[in-house]
Amino acid sequence: MKEIEKLQKLIDESDNIVFFGGAGVSTESGIKDFRSADGLYNMKFEYPAEVMLSSDMFYLRTDKFYEFYKEYMNSLKYKPNITHNFLTKLEEKGKLKAIITQNIDGLHQKAGSKNVLEVHGTTYTNHCLDCGEEYDAEYVFNSKGIPKCKKCGGTIKPDVVLYGEMLPDCFMDARDYIKKADVLIVAGTSLTVEPAASLVRLYSGDKLVIINKDKTPYDHYANIVINDSLKNVFGNLKV
Ligand code: ZN
Repeated sequence: MKEIEKLQKLIDESDNIVFFGGAGVSTESGIKDFRSADGLYNMKFEYPAEVMLSSDMFYLRTDKFYEFYKEYMNSLKYKPNITHNFLTKLEEKGKLKAIITQNIDGLHQKAGSKNVLEVHGTTYTNHCLDCGEEYDAEYVFNSKGIPKCKKCGGTIKPDVVLYGEMLPDCFMDARDYIKKADVLIVAGTSLTVEPAASLVRLYSGDKLVIINKDKTPYDHYANIVINDSLKNVFGNLKV
């Protein structure tokens, strides 16, 4: 049996699937991957992307942070792709328990998925640091300079987990979903960066599926490994 047929069988037979996705899920929507060859980390900036998107940069040079953030993190113009849409249908059928994502673009929710755990936060919600008022992505990305609160004039901060910040509470929920999963599908992540790798290690079942263009350090733990583009895989699966 081909690997994709094995995967189809796992999907058909399970109602406790958990999906854990990385940047590769969004690159097929046109969003740049931080770590791929043409990704943000290899572009030329005054500082590397990790520094531009750090907590220090936000608090010490808020103007510079927002210049970079608005230019490169603006996810408003992107649309969900075949993988996002497949997962939405899988959730509607009651087979998918949770989507755990490292992406901050909100595309799973745009596709209609409900139980999405964004372990690196999201660009879609933002809060005033002084009074806590919430602002949407349009308000922040369309503002001039540093986005300010309409109520109190305070600085607005995206609900993105910046470098140097703690992981959000949903990270603990993500751990639980993975521990209890029947089938764990890991896709579009190189699994070379923490905490992604340690999340996968929590899974103790025998239905671990890794889908990624390149090999990952965890391929030998997996029961099914598919090295292909996600659209080739999810475009050929049935819900
Ligand atoms: Zn405010």
